[in-house]
Amino acid sequence: MSYDENNIFARILRGEIPCDKVHENDHALAFRDIAPKAPTHVLVIPKGRYGTLHEFAEKGSDTELAAWVRAMAAVAQAEGVVEDGYRTTCNNGRHGNQEVPHLHMHIVGGRQLGSAPRG
Ligand code: AMP
Repeated sequence: MSYDENNIFARILRGEIPCDKVHENDHALAFRDIAPKAPTHVLVIPKGRYGTLHEFAEKGSDTELAAWVRAMAAVAQAEGVVEDGYRTTCNNGRHGNQEVPHLHMHIVGGRQLGSAPRG
């Protein structure tokens, strides 16, 4: 699937619309979800033009992949949720109910979460 240059996260990356940034490295950006589901709800995105996890795994460099994972860990650390735990969720494609077609990991925590869906 071709990358939608006008998706909301592409526009955030271009600086066209603001975000509440919590962390950044050379290849990843993390910002607060606009509709948080928990005290901590941060989205971590690669800076490259990747729509899904599959595209990122296929086309992203090892450096980009590492930077994305390290950004997630840094966010969890900075948010103070490591000790009590938190959830990472990555919705992909239609069946995954992915709303924004730029790869993003949700980092959710700060309270006891419900059981994760298991299909
Ligand atoms: P998903 O269903 O995984 O694609 O989730 C997309 C997420 O992006 C939702 O949790 C939205 O609340 C969030 N979102 C949409 N627009 C923005 C925005 N401008 N800034 C921050 N988060 C956003």
